[in-house]
Amino acid sequence: MNDQELLRYSRHILLEDIDIEGVSKLLHSHVLIIGAGGLGSACAPYLAASGVGTITIVDDDIVDFTNLQRQVIYSSQNIGSNKVDAAKTFLERLNPGTKVNAYALRANEAFLLEIIDQVDVVIDCTDNFNTRQLVNRSCVSLKKPLVFGAALQFDGQFSVFDSRLEQSPCYACLFSPDEVFEEVLCSQMGIFSPLVGIIGSIQAANALQLLVGFGSTMVGKLGLWDAKRSEFSQIKISRNPTCKVCSPNRN
Ligand SMILES: [Zn+2]
Repeated sequence: MNDQELLRYSRHILLEDIDIEGVSKLLHSHVLIIGAGGLGSACAPYLAASGVGTITIVDDDIVDFTNLQRQVIYSSQNIGSNKVDAAKTFLERLNPGTKVNAYALRANEAFLLEIIDQVDVVIDCTDNFNTRQLVNRSCVSLKKPLVFGAALQFDGQFSVFDSRLEQSPCYACLFSPDEVFEEVLCSQMGIFSPLVGIIGSIQAANALQLLVGFGSTMVGKLGLWDAKRSEFSQIKISRNPTCKVCSPNRN
């Protein structure tokens, strides 16, 4: 680490749980963020600012006027641009030491398997059930930790699914891929602006914990944030022995 880096990350170095060793781990780490909407644009800046060496960000969407109410890395000038290109510009300006790979595409299985194999932590910042299931399946098969977050109206959820750990549930243990339910979107239901900031920041915190290796993450717990009451609660979640994705008996 050079003098500039020692200074830049000095407030993390002061933390016993992170220290020089933790910062050095972050500098050599690679995080994949799937989705550059509200959650992605909240969590990505904290990862870049913390010195994560490489951030790969995937989203096929373009910046829309209605995104600006909560997707705070974008500005009026970005309307009509690819979100990932605007995100890359923002993050590289924030920390030139972080390399940002931008993919303006919708995540498909072949792409995910190839990219997830190269990263240390995957962050699910998507807004749809099918992509979440696909990301989870790829993470389970490659044994990569997955930081999950979701936000709608005034309610947020978050967890960590870490298939390296015997007891960790996966996303499909919680929400079966067979379940048929109506997709609810922010465009129809509305979303409270700072909610994505809160959940996205928790996702960034969990990702940093996984990369450095300190404290305890949300493995085995589902966190719930009620933004109308400023109330946090959490429920225990366990592995589903008949889960179609992570059970050893799956067919
Ligand atoms: Zn499972």
